Amino acid sequence: MRISIVGGGPAGLYFADLIKRIDPRHQVTVFERNRRSVTWGFGVVFSDRALEFLQTDDPAMFDYLMPHMETWPDLTIVHRDTRIPIDGNGFAAVGRLELLNLLQARAEGQGVDIRYETGLDALDALAEADVVVGADGVNSLVRQLHGSDFHTRIVTHSNKFIWYGTSQVFDSLTLTFRTSADGVFCAHHYRYSPRMSTFLVEVDLPTWERAGFADMDAEQTMRYCEAVFAPDLDGHPIVSNNSHWRQFPAIWNDRWYHGNTVLMGDALRTAHFSIGSGTRLAMEDALALARAFREAGEDLQAVFARFEALRRPPMEKIVAAADASLRWYEGMAELMTLTPYEFAYSYMTRTGRIGEAKLERQAPRFMAEYRRHVG
Ligand SMILES: Cc1cc2nc3c(=O)[nH]c(=O)nc-3n(C[C@H](O)[C@H](O)[C@H](O)COP(=O)(O)OP(=O)(O)OC[C@H]3O[C@@H](n4cnc5c(N)ncnc54)[C@H](O)[C@@H]3O)c2cc1C
Repeated sequence: MRISIVGGGPAGLYFADLIKRIDPRHQVTVFERNRRSVTWGFGVVFSDRALEFLQTDDPAMFDYLMPHMETWPDLTIVHRDTRIPIDGNGFAAVGRLELLNLLQARAEGQGVDIRYETGLDALDALAEADVVVGADGVNSLVRQLHGSDFHTRIVTHSNKFIWYGTSQVFDSLTLTFRTSADGVFCAHHYRYSPRMSTFLVEVDLPTWERAGFADMDAEQTMRYCEAVFAPDLDGHPIVSNNSHWRQFPAIWNDRWYHGNTVLMGDALRTAHFSIGSGTRLAMEDALALARAFREAGEDLQAVFARFEALRRPPMEKIVAAADASLRWYEGMAELMTLTPYEFAYSYMTRTGRIGEAKLERQAPRFMAEYRRHVG
């Protein structure tokens, strides 16, 4: 089959590799707008659970990626200058560019034709394809050019975030909450290489407006954020990679495929970055779509229906958890009155998926301290 994939992010590259492994006779082409060595952002994080799927479903890929990951066993929450470690929350991180380079090498090794610097602005180039995969991210052209075929819903959330990096290396995935004269700021930060960390700053809209970010240039914005998080950065600068303020778009498609075209990854649906799973979801989609091809052969409607049957139920749960998580961040200003341990407990239970009993099993050291402080 001729399989054309729009988008060489984690979803598109991993699917290209998997489908070639299933049948090397497939002609697989990935159209990617960027150059090989260019991407946005810094590192991405996977929770322990997020890596389990790879270990189970594709141990060779797990073994290939693991040596490139930075790992640590705890999550840390910093509130009112108190650092609260939360055990039982292992995480792993890798630079986004490094991950893409690894996936590119794998796919190219299987004979996938990756056409870099080939941004599509129409679907004509795909007319010959037997299968079109829209793996082109949040602003998916494939999705948009299909008009209403996918029954897309997009809700843009109010909090603003900016994805920076820093040379300060942190020893765990940390969420730091600090208050400036203008309001509450949260930084999601973690080491993704021995020398670099992701440093994502999030603020609610009233704080963003009071701070006057709309009138600041890129330098002023970085300096402001450095001042807010000076105790955490310890003299290290914030660095930018095409970083600018964005608002999270919650995307959901009621229909996942149309004719010979299927969506996957962020083009299909987004899950708020605070549950650290967008990359994992994209890679899980790739695994499920490849599995559907293995099981249903070349009957595309059967393949796509199987893909949806495999992915829709877990997706609905994850998206619900991600929505609850983003609402927690939207209300963070009111939560700042909580004591540090109350605040950390509120954070850990924010999605409704973890209650007291589960937290007791998962994070016994944290819960012992929580009881000591809160009663
Ligand atoms: C601030 C922020 C922080 C995040 N942090 C994390 C995290 O810690 N952990 C995590 O797992 N996930 C994180 N995510 C989410 C994660 O980045 C995405 O969920 C993931 O990259 C989705 O993969 P994808 O392959 O579907 O799309 P993308 O990674 O967006 O890839 C899409 C690709 O398509 C290309 N493309 C787009 N349009 C065209 C076109 N017309 N023609 C050709 N090419 C095109 C783009 O250049 C891009 O390379 C974060 C996201 C954001 C915004």
